[in-house]
Amino acid sequence: MINRRAVIATALSLFAVTVCVTPWGAAAAAAAGTATSSVAVQAAATEAASGDDEVVVVQRNAVGAVTKVTRYEPAGSAEKLRAELRARGVTGIVPAGEMGPNKIQACAPFVGTAAAWCSHAWAYNQFNDPQVYFLDHTPAGYPVTDAVADWYQSPGIDSYYRWHTQGCPGNGRHCVHVYAVNSPLSWYGQTSWAANAPQGPAKVELNTRLLGNATQRRKTTCHELGHALGLDHNSSTNSCLKSGTVGAGWSVRPSGDDFQVLNQLYPKPGT
Ligand SMILES: [Zn+2]
Repeated sequence: MINRRAVIATALSLFAVTVCVTPWGAAAAAAAGTATSSVAVQAAATEAASGDDEVVVVQRNAVGAVTKVTRYEPAGSAEKLRAELRARGVTGIVPAGEMGPNKIQACAPFVGTAAAWCSHAWAYNQFNDPQVYFLDHTPAGYPVTDAVADWYQSPGIDSYYRWHTQGCPGNGRHCVHVYAVNSPLSWYGQTSWAANAPQGPAKVELNTRLLGNATQRRKTTCHELGHALGLDHNSSTNSCLKSGTVGAGWSVRPSGDDFQVLNQLYPKPGT
C-alpha cells in the first residue's frame, strides 16, 4: 500500500499539470483551420446519415492481415478526429461509410439498443466465464474501480480490478491495461484490441486533457471497459456505451441491454 500511495501522489502531481492545458476546442479549431466549408458540410452530412460516432484505425501486417484495431470515442465530430489523425500520418483510418452494422462495428448478438463489437470476444480457456482483469495505471480520481464493479454485475463474463503493480495473473486469465494519457487530439477514450484474438492483448487509454469533467470521465471509463469486454455502441442514453459528450440525464453505467449482449456473446453457463 505504501507503493500505491507513492504512485498516486506522483500521478496526482502529473494530473494537476495536465488539467491546466488548453481545452480541446482551441486545438481542434487550429487543426481544422485548413478545411473548406464544403468539406465540413459534407462531413456533417455523412455523420448524420451513418450515425458516425466512432473513429476506428486498423493496423495490418506486411501480408495485409489485421494485427490491431483501435477505436476512439471522439470529443466532437468523428470526421474532425479522422482529419487530426490523418494530419499526423496515421494510416488505416476506416472511412465513415465502412463502419456500419456488421462491417467494423455492430455485430450480433443485438439486444434492444446494444450490440457486440464484431470479431472481438475473449476465450474461456479453462473457466466457465472468461476472466478479464483490468490493470489500473490511472491517477487518483479515475473511476476504474467503480467501472469494473459495474461490469462485474454482468452475466457471461467476469471482470476484476487490479492495481497495475500486482501484475497480470496469467494461467488463462486475460488482462486489459488501463492508462491515463495526455493527448492533444480530440478523443475522450480509446480501446485497442487485436482482431480475432481471443487471448488479447487489449488496452484502454483515457485522455486526461479532455476528462476534467467527472461525469464524462466516469462515462468514458465505463464506455471503454465495455468495449474491452466485447461490446459495441448502444444508441440509448441509458447506457455508457452511447458515444460522445455526455448530455443531461445520460447514464454513466451499463444498461440491461449491454449485460444481455454479453450474456449471449458468452453463453456458457457461468459461475
Ligand atoms: Zn466507443
